[in-house]
Amino acid sequence: MKEFELIRSYFTEQVVKRKDVALGIGDDCALLIAPERQHIAVTTDTLVAGVHFPEFTNAKAIGHKAIAVNLSDLAAMGAEPAWISLALTLPEADEDWVGEFCEGVFELCEFYNVQLIGGDTTQGPLSITVTAQGTVPFDKQITRTGAKPGDWLYVTGEIGDAALALKHYYGELELPFDTYTLVKKRLDYPSPQVLAGQTLREYATAAIDLSDGLLADLQHICTSSNVGVNLVLDQLPISNALYDTLGAEQAIELALQGGDDYELLFTVSEDKKVGMETALADVGQTITCIGQLNHSGKITTTLNSQPTQINSKGFEHFDNDQ
Ligand SMILES: [Mg+2]
Repeated sequence: MKEFELIRSYFTEQVVKRKDVALGIGDDCALLIAPERQHIAVTTDTLVAGVHFPEFTNAKAIGHKAIAVNLSDLAAMGAEPAWISLALTLPEADEDWVGEFCEGVFELCEFYNVQLIGGDTTQGPLSITVTAQGTVPFDKQITRTGAKPGDWLYVTGEIGDAALALKHYYGELELPFDTYTLVKKRLDYPSPQVLAGQTLREYATAAIDLSDGLLADLQHICTSSNVGVNLVLDQLPISNALYDTLGAEQAIELALQGGDDYELLFTVSEDKKVGMETALADVGQTITCIGQLNHSGKITTTLNSQPTQINSKGFEHFDNDQ
């Protein structure tokens, strides 16, 4: 197992050294200095080859994504990322692969000042588990439970591109090279909305990050907050690439049901709407209002001001006679 010992050394050479890490990698545990009057937000995600990313995804993208999906969960709570630990299971001790993987991991860690504080490397089918921890001041956390009828529903950025890239990956359609390059980046290198999440602490009544698809994740907010919502499908922020490739109807379906967007879906009350829009514009974050919450307990949709049907699997078809 000498090779694996060598592999482990890749994870100790890192640039980020935080003052709140009293003891980093190398002992039985890391020791952290807990900040005062802050919650420590903790999240874990596992990525398995062939399940969470296509088998032939390059190692740098896998490293990036493993960190990004966890930072995205912290962002959805309004937390500032601080520390990560990483458990890596590898079929073989492939130094080149690990070198590229680490590039993806540490690029994101350096950008967000996140320190790797521990982990484990073992042999087996490729799988990556990351635990990320961040901080959020007491009572400033954004949960899924605070949305109220009358609140407005917003989403950051654009949605559906990653799902379009997956369709190409799996041969369901063939994209022109330029389009594929564009959307593949959204799939392989998602950007966690860390800054938007922290900005939203002062404004959002509820938030979630989009990992499973807009409808599925929106349902979590509706269930947790006991609210319903009417989604205005015309307003969904769909990229030109997606719109031009699939046309309006299918593009909307994919934006609703495709996953892997890692944008933030959040709600804000009427009286904080303007302040929130200004604050997010100030940090350069594009957002789109896509609906309003109500008492119905259900997700309904409209298109061109007409009610549109939606079934349990999501958006069904454009049908005005309901
Ligand atoms: Mg999440």
